[in-house]
Amino acid sequence: MALNKKQHLPAKVCATCMRPFSWRRKWQACWDNVKYCSERCRRQRFIKQRKRNS
Ligand SMILES: [Zn+2]
Repeated sequence: MALNKKQHLPAKVCATCMRPFSWRRKWQACWDNVKYCSERCRRQRFIKQRKRNS
């Protein structure tokens, strides 16, 4: 049986752009709370929610 060295990483779908993204080391402590693929998507979501206030 041939085993790949490739590790199978967990993946999620970004709540902003709806694209799948996989686990990164910077998220190892907070993976359960990660909802966005990038800082940019996180901010876009945030702006959307705050728009009503301005
Ligand atoms: Zn995204």
